[in-house]
Amino acid sequence: MKEKWYKDGLNFSCQGCGGCCCGPGGYVWVTEEEIQAMADRLKEPVKKFMRKYVRLVNGRMALIDNAAGDCIFLNEKGQCKVYEQRPVQCKTFPWWPEIVASRSNWEDNGYDCPGIGHGELIPLEVIERGLKDKS
Ligand code: SF4
Ligand code: SF4
Repeated sequence: MKEKWYKDGLNFSCQGCGGCCCGPGGYVWVTEEEIQAMADRLKEPVKKFMRKYVRLVNGRMALIDNAAGDCIFLNEKGQCKVYEQRPVQCKTFPWWPEIVASRSNWEDNGYDCPGIGHGELIPLEVIERGLKDKS
């Protein structure tokens, strides 16, 4: 098997800027299980949660955005209101196939995410686990 370019790990440490939760044009995809977990966290019935926070995009469920185009669960302090139950897509960032596909993709994403390329050295096993969970 071809050796991964990130076999020695990658530096990443979230700076808590909230940048990956902001801005129009992105989608936070959610599953029924994730909806249930977030609804439980907010102590809302699932049907009500769906009406308030979920939209359909080409047949897939995604969280809605606020008026600024940010994720509906990003609070005014830049924190996630459902952090412990945030969707897998959020939990696995930045270990997404498209981000670690190449060193240049990784570095390019560093312009948007100040955690990329900084801080702790994350070992290959953790990166691969994130990639597996995301898929
Ligand atoms: S953009 Fe990067 S540093 Fe900022 S909150 Fe998201 S993961 Fe953390
Ligand atoms: S669910 Fe939380 S972590 Fe995910 S995009 Fe929304 S605010 Fe960010």
